[in-house]
Amino acid sequence: MSEVNQSPEYLERLRHSTAHIMAYAVQQLFPNGEHTVKLAIGPPIENEFYYDMEVPRPITPDDFPEIEKHMKAMIKSNVPFEQETWTFDAARTWFAERNQTFKLELIDGISDREVSASDEGVAEEGVSIYHNGDFTDLCKGPHIDKTGECRHFKLLRVSGAYWRGDSNREQLQRIYGTAWGTREDLRTYLRQREEAAKRDHRKLGRELELFQMHPESPGSVFWLPKGAFIYNHLSEKVRKLNLTEGYNEVRTPLIYDSSLWQTSGHWEHFKEDMFLIDNEDGEPTSALKPMNCPAHMLIYKSKRHSYRDLPYRLHDQGVLHRNEATGTLSGLSRVRQLCQDDAHNFVTEDQIAEEYERILGLFQRIYGTFDLPFRCDFSTRNPDKYMGDIEVWNRAEDILESVLKNNQIDYTVDPGEAAFYGPKLDFQIRDSLNRDVQCATVQLDFQLPERFELIYIAPDGSEKRPVVIHRAICGSFERFIAMLIEHYAGAFPTWLSPVQCVVMTISQKFVDYATEVQNLLLNNECRVVLDNSDDKIGAKIRQARLQRIPYMLIIGERERDNRTVSVRSREEGDIGAMTLDSFIDKIRDEIDIDF
Ligand SMILES: [Zn+2]
Ligand SMILES: [Zn+2]
Repeated sequence: MSEVNQSPEYLERLRHSTAHIMAYAVQQLFPNGEHTVKLAIGPPIENEFYYDMEVPRPITPDDFPEIEKHMKAMIKSNVPFEQETWTFDAARTWFAERNQTFKLELIDGISDREVSASDEGVAEEGVSIYHNGDFTDLCKGPHIDKTGECRHFKLLRVSGAYWRGDSNREQLQRIYGTAWGTREDLRTYLRQREEAAKRDHRKLGRELELFQMHPESPGSVFWLPKGAFIYNHLSEKVRKLNLTEGYNEVRTPLIYDSSLWQTSGHWEHFKEDMFLIDNEDGEPTSALKPMNCPAHMLIYKSKRHSYRDLPYRLHDQGVLHRNEATGTLSGLSRVRQLCQDDAHNFVTEDQIAEEYERILGLFQRIYGTFDLPFRCDFSTRNPDKYMGDIEVWNRAEDILESVLKNNQIDYTVDPGEAAFYGPKLDFQIRDSLNRDVQCATVQLDFQLPERFELIYIAPDGSEKRPVVIHRAICGSFERFIAMLIEHYAGAFPTWLSPVQCVVMTISQKFVDYATEVQNLLLNNECRVVLDNSDDKIGAKIRQARLQRIPYMLIIGERERDNRTVSVRSREEGDIGAMTLDSFIDKIRDEIDIDF
C-alpha cells in the first residue's frame, strides 16, 4: 500500500470530498432526494467538514447510521472525482431542473462575506462541476482521486444555519463530520473530542456551580459564589502584579458621549458592535464603552507630561459591553459583558523596546504560574494601508521582532496583517488538550495619540507625540477562566480552588475536634468547609472528588486522640496522617502564590 498522504492540503481535499459524499447520502434518505434536498455549501473546516442543506424534515443524530451506510456504499465503490467545466446556461438548466435554488444563486455570482461564489466554482468563463458516481455538484475543488480514500470518517453533529449567514434568509441544517487519512488518526481525534466535551466549561461551570447564564440577560455572566471567588482572586493577583510593575490603576465611566467615540474613531468603525443610548428624540447620542482606550486618552491629556513621566501606564479592569449577535454567544468564550486586565502604556518611540520587554516579562510570569506555554502571531504592516511614517514602522517592527527573539518566544510573522494604525502581537496559549486559545494582544498604536492630539515635552523643550501600547495579558477574564476550567478539567490548583479543603467526620462523635480543625485552617486563611453529615465516609469522599476539592481531611477516633488529620489529596490519593502544623505548612505552601 502506498504511504498515506497526511499534508494539511491533502486532508482538506479529503474532508471536502467526504462532504460531497455525505450530501449524496442525505439525498438518498428522501424519495426524489436530488430534487427535494436543496444543497447550499459544504466546505472543509479545521479537522472537520460540514454541508449546509435544506431538507424535507429535520435531520437528527438518529439519522447518522443510515446516512453513513449510504456513504460507505459510495466509498466502497471507489468511484473517481471528475471535473468538468459547464457553460452558465448548461449549469442553470441542470440545477433549475433539480430545484437547486441555492446553487442557482451561487451561479448568479452573488457574493458576500459568508459565501463567495468563486469558492463554489463560479468563474468568468463558466462554472466548475465535480461528479462522483451519481452525484454532481457545483464546485471549484480540488478533490481527492477516488471515493475509497474517504473511508476513515465519522458524522459528528447537526446544527442550524442560515443561508448566507443571514437570519432573514432560509433556515438550513448544517451536518458536521470529520475525516482522516488513517484509522488511528480518526480514533485519536474522536477521543480528543470526547475529552474536550467532558471538560467543556459550560458543563463544568454547571456541575461545579461556578456560573450561570440566563436568557433575561443574554451573553452576561451570573457568577455564583465559587466562580466569583475565582474571578475576584485572579483579578486581585493581576492588580497586585500591575501595581508592583509601575501601573496606575484607574476606574472610568461606562457611558460616554458620542463626541468621544467620534474622536476615537469607534463611531465610524465599531458602532455596530456598541450598545447605543438614545436621547429624548430617539437619536443615539451616547454609548456603553466597548473598550477603555478613549477614557485613558482623556486622562493622559488632562495633564501636561514631560518625557520624564514616561512610560505612563494606566491599568483598568472596567466593565465593557459589546453587542455580539445572539447566535454567536457561547458560554464564557463569547459574551456581551466582559472585563479585561486592560492597560494603555504611553511611551516615547525610544522606549518601545524596553516597554515590550517588560510586558513580555508579565506574560511569562502570569502564564508561567499556570504552566501554559504560549506562542505569538506577529502582524506586520500592510504596504497599501498604514498611517504615519514608514521609517517609524520599520523601526517599530524591527524592535518587536528582536524582543520576541531575545525572549526566545516562538512566533510566526503574518505579513500585511497589521491594522493600519500599528503592528500587533497576538498570543496563543497552548492548553492541556493541545488546543491554541487566543487570549492576549499587545498592539502598538500611532493613531490614537494623533486623534487625541496627545503630547509630551521632549528634553529639548519641543512637543512630541507619545506612542500608545494597548495590552491585555489574560485578555477578558471571562474567556481566560473558560480556558482555565477546560485546561484543568475543573481541578484548579490549590491557590485558585474556591474550596481548598474539606474536613470530614467519620461519625458525629468527632464533630467538636473537626470544628476545631476547621477553625484553625480558617485562621490560616485556608478556604475550608466541614462535612459533618450522616453520610458514610465513602460517600463524602465521592462528593468531594466530584467537586475537585484538592484536600480531604478525615477525622475519626485515632485522629482526635493523636491530634492529627488523615489526608487524602486529589492528585495523590491517601497520603496518611499528618500533624495539624505540618498540614498547615503544606497547604500554605500551595496557597502562597503571586504572579
Ligand atoms: Zn465541493
Ligand atoms: Zn485599548
